[in-house]
Order: sequence, then structure tokens, then C-alpha cells
Amino acid sequence: MKSSKYNLSTKIILMVEFILLVSSVLFCTVSIYRARTTIRRSIQQRMLDIANCAAGSVDGDFLGSMKKSDIGSDEYNDLYSSLAVFRDNVDLEYVYGIRKTQMGNFVFIVDTDPEDPAEYGGDMKATAALESAGNGTAAVDEVPYSDQWGEFYSAYSPVFDSSGKVAGIVAVDFSAEWFDDQLTAQTRSTILSYVIILLVSLVFAAVLSLLTVRPFIRLQEELFEEKVHAETANKAKSEFLANMSHEIRTPINAVLGMNEMIIRQQQEVSDLNFTNPDAAEEALKSIGSYAADVKRAGNNLLAIVNNILDFSKIEEGRMDVVETPYQLCNLLHDLNNMIIFRAGDKGLDFDMDVDRTLPNDLSGDEIRVRQILMNILTNAVKYTDKGSVKLTVKGEKQGDGNIILSFAVRDTGIGIRPEDMDKVFTKFERLELERNGTIEGTGLGLAITKRLLEAMNGDITVESEYGKGSVFTVIIPQKVLSGMPVGNFREQFETRSLEKTSYSESFRAPMARILAVDDTITNLVVVVNFLKKTEMKVDTASSGAEAIDKARNTTYDVILMDQMMPYMTGTETLHHIRENKDGPSSNAPVICLTADAVIGARERYLEEGYSDYMSKPVDGRALERMIMKFLPKYKIETVEEDAV
Ligand code: ADP
Repeated sequence: MKSSKYNLSTKIILMVEFILLVSSVLFCTVSIYRARTTIRRSIQQRMLDIANCAAGSVDGDFLGSMKKSDIGSDEYNDLYSSLAVFRDNVDLEYVYGIRKTQMGNFVFIVDTDPEDPAEYGGDMKATAALESAGNGTAAVDEVPYSDQWGEFYSAYSPVFDSSGKVAGIVAVDFSAEWFDDQLTAQTRSTILSYVIILLVSLVFAAVLSLLTVRPFIRLQEELFEEKVHAETANKAKSEFLANMSHEIRTPINAVLGMNEMIIRQQQEVSDLNFTNPDAAEEALKSIGSYAADVKRAGNNLLAIVNNILDFSKIEEGRMDVVETPYQLCNLLHDLNNMIIFRAGDKGLDFDMDVDRTLPNDLSGDEIRVRQILMNILTNAVKYTDKGSVKLTVKGEKQGDGNIILSFAVRDTGIGIRPEDMDKVFTKFERLELERNGTIEGTGLGLAITKRLLEAMNGDITVESEYGKGSVFTVIIPQKVLSGMPVGNFREQFETRSLEKTSYSESFRAPMARILAVDDTITNLVVVVNFLKKTEMKVDTASSGAEAIDKARNTTYDVILMDQMMPYMTGTETLHHIRENKDGPSSNAPVICLTADAVIGARERYLEEGYSDYMSKPVDGRALERMIMKFLPKYKIETVEEDAV
């Protein structure tokens, strides 16, 4: 891709260069042709100047009347020597005098050649230039002519007598060779200067096109890359949503299935209660266990939705690490529970080997740690058809109160080819699609995992033998909160769970009155039941209009407002309540309760005038804490310091 784009810029530059070269060559050819004509004219002019000069030094009256018998006379000798001066000019070969006879032909009358002079009266070859001089106009031969002395270009200048008539002609001969040499030498230097100009302008043009074409091409490249990026992102989003639909259905299935079990078991309990109290108690325990599974599946679902948000955060480069205290035994227990059934469904053994001395109370981004481990564990199950998956957990304590946890997931699956190893963590990259086509996945999991680990100063590595299996090792630094070891994590979990399930309210406020607004009645039921033990009076409204009406007539300490309601949204309802200045609840704290949890949602709602923001699904304890924050202190009766 890159090279073809690079070629494009080279092609454009070469094209510009070619056009420039052709036009410059044409321009130079025409210019050289014109320059050659000019050079020729200037050489001819020089020849003519010499001929005119020589003619000027001759006595016209003597030349016109000279006879053969005058040869040797003083006047002849004067004529001879004044012409001979010009003969000594190195450029020319011969200088001589000519006369046109009455017959119209031309004859020699004086020749300064010392070696082989022409005879007086000897015929000479007439040329167009000679004819012109015979008629009184000096001229030079345009083409060379030959005679017994060689090949020449001659310049002819007329000599006039005192009456103004043409008395004779002085001719100067230049050899054709000399003439051509002059022409060639001067033309060559002209061509040389044109070639230099041509080369300089080509180099200049190349530099200019590099400077102008390159940025243009770069812009094209950037646009092209953006287009590819946008298309890939779009494709990834579609695939991602398709995958999420599947991932979300799985826990929903668990929620509905377990709930069905609860309903049936509850029926059984009420039937047994009268006949067999022991069996009824046993059945009640199962209800508790099913309910715990429902809770876990619900949390899974929430984690997936958070994954989607994470993905968009990663894409925007806004990945935050949120550290909270957590217990390693919970994490391990949940991982075990979530993976053991998936492995069992495929007939795989699943085993966990946990170093019992690892500290149980840790601080870190538990949700992300879960996400990372779930991802490599589900991959191990996905890409293994027979054999086992094993998770080994170890740790290396650091001096600064941190521990570097190491989670190694070993499987006996399909393995990864050596040439594919570096593609594993690349976004959208799925290996051996022809082989793994039926296995669901988007190729995003490990890319997200890697980025999450980078954000947590962790790392992930992979070793694999194609056809035999792989080991993915994740390293994550976490803070240690207490030295209590995790021991047998399953036992730890059970003890902790029991502690946790014994809920007690964090405060009581029988004098307080709050309003819960939601168009989904189930949500109102959940809120009312969550807050039952606080003894607050909880009014409900199932629409914006009903809420406005109630707020107009009653003083509420806190209003919980759902956002997405038909006819009037939560925000519109809030504005109406605030606008009714005399209303008893116009200044009541209004908390936004919404499923809108995308990036920036909180800030947006606070800007609208809400007192605070909570995303759904609502956690009972978090809701109590939130309400307590806004209740007048004198109305709060009981506060459990360590209930949180
Ligand atoms: P996917 O959603 O496709 O599983 P991932 O990013 O989690 O995406 O994994 C990327 C690719 O790495 C997978 O498509 C698969 O080809 C390969 N891969 C991941 N884990 C394993 C494994 N345990 N064994 C073999 N191949 C694996």
C-alpha cells in the first residue's frame, strides 16, 4: 500500500519532469537554430567589414582604368601593397581586385597571392554575391563555391571611381573550413550554455515539484489512511456488536434460568413448610444459592456493558484505572465459577492452582483484572477441544507494599503457529480463520487486554506449541492492604459471602420523605424495597407530569429522577420543578438515576442542574449512601459507621 502511494508521488514528479524536459528541449532547439543564424550573420558581417575596409583603401579611378601594362607601375604597386596588408590577416586566404567586363563576366585585375596569383584578365567564377557587388552592393556568399584554389566563402565590396560608378570589386576569400569552424565553435558554446540552463532548470523543477507534490501526496495518503481507518473501525463496531449480542445473551440466560428455579423452589418451600420443616430449610438454602447465581450473572452482564464502554474509552485514548479494595478470594471464586461450566460444557477439565500464601486483601482495578483473566480463560476454553485448562496464580512481594501477581493460563488446545505469534495482540486480528471460523470472536479481546495491562503497568506474554497448546501469562502489580493470606480461596469466599449477605441498613430516617420517579414500575418497586429498612417515606411517580404534580404539593428531602421517560424526560421534569419557585420542593436535591453511562454522561447531567448522578443498575448500599449525603442531618437517626 505504502509503496504504491510512494510510487504515485514519484510518478507525478517524473511526469512533471518529462513535460519540462520535452518543452525545454523544444525551446532550446528553436533557440539554438535562431542563435546559429545570428552567429552566421555576425561571421558574414565580419567578413564584409574586412572587404569594405580593403575596398576603402583602393584608388577607384586607377582600378577602373588599369591595364595589363600598368603592372609594375608605382600606382599598381600602391594598389597591390594596400590590398596585401589585408591578406596578412590570418583569417582570410586571398585578397584581390576584380572588374566586370562589358560582356558582363568578371575578371581578375590584381591578385595579392604571392605563390599562385591569378593572371590579369583571367576569368573568375561569378556568384550571386559577386553579381550584387558588381551592381554596387557589398555581399557575402551564402553557400561555399569551389575553384582551382580550393573551397571558399568570399566577401565582395564594390570600389567606386570619382564619378561614382563601380570601377571594380575587392574580394576577400575565407576558406569554407574556416567558416564552418567558426560557426561550429560559436554554436557549441551556445549549446553548452543552453544545456547548463536546461539542467539547472530541471533540477530546480524537480526540487520545486518535490516541495509542492510531496505535501499534496502526503495529504492524499493521510486521507486514504483515515478512510481505511474509518472503514475498519466501522467493520469492527459491527462485528463487536454482533459478538456482544451473543455475550450478553449468555448471562441473561443464566438470570432467567436461575430465576425460574427460585420461583419453583419457593413454591416447594411453601408446600413443604407444613409437612417437613428440615426439607423446607434445605430448599430455602438452594433459593439463596440460585439468587447468588442470578446476582453473579447480573454482574457479568454489567461487566460486559462496562467492556463496551471500556472499548470506546480505549478507542478515544481515555482509559482510566480505578483502584478499589477487593478480595482475591472473591475474584478467584468468580473466575472459577464462570469458567468451570464453560469448560465442563466442552468436556474439558478445569483446574486452579493458587499459592495459599498470597495476600487476600488487595487494592487495584478489580473489574479490569477480572476482565483480563476472563478473556484469557475463555479463550483457552474456546480454542481447546480436548484436554484441560489450568490457571496457576503466584505472586512476588515487592518492598513497597505491592505484589506482582502472575496468572498463567495453560491449555491443551490448538496452539498458535510461530509466524502468527506477533499478530495475537493486534486489534481485529483473528488467526487461521478457515480453521477457527466457527469459533465466535472479534479479535478484540487480547488487544483490549494488552492495552488494559499497559494502563496498569502489567504485561502479557504467550508461549505456544502449534497443535499442542498455549500458555498465556499475565503479570499485574497490585497493592497489598493486609497480610491476611488467601489460604483456601473457596472457604474464604464462603465465609465472606455469608458475612456480606447479612444486610443491615446504613441509616434510618422515618421523618424523611423522598420521591422516586421512573416510568418502569419494576424499578420503582426495587427502589422502594431497597429503602424499606431506612423507614423513609418513599413516594413514587411514574411520569414527569405526576412528579411535577407531587413536587408542587409536598416537601421532599430528595427526589430520585429517571432520565428516559415518554412525553417528558427527567431533565425536562427537573427544569419544571425548579421553575416553580414557590413549590415546596423547588430546591430539593434531585439525583439523576439513569442507564446512560457513556463517557461524559455524568458531567452532562450535572450541567443540567442535577444535584448528583447514579448509573443504573442501582446498588442498594450505594443508593443509601447517596440519599444520606443529601438528607438533612437532623432527620437521620441511625448511622452504622462501618456499614459501607
Ligand atoms: P477472539 O475474539 O477472536 O478470540 P482475541 O483477541 O481474544 O480474539 O484473540 C485473538 C486471536 O488469537 C484469536 O482469534 C485466536 O486465533 C488466537 N488465540 C487467542 N487465544 C488462543 C489460545 N488460547 N489458543 C490458540 N489461539 C488463541
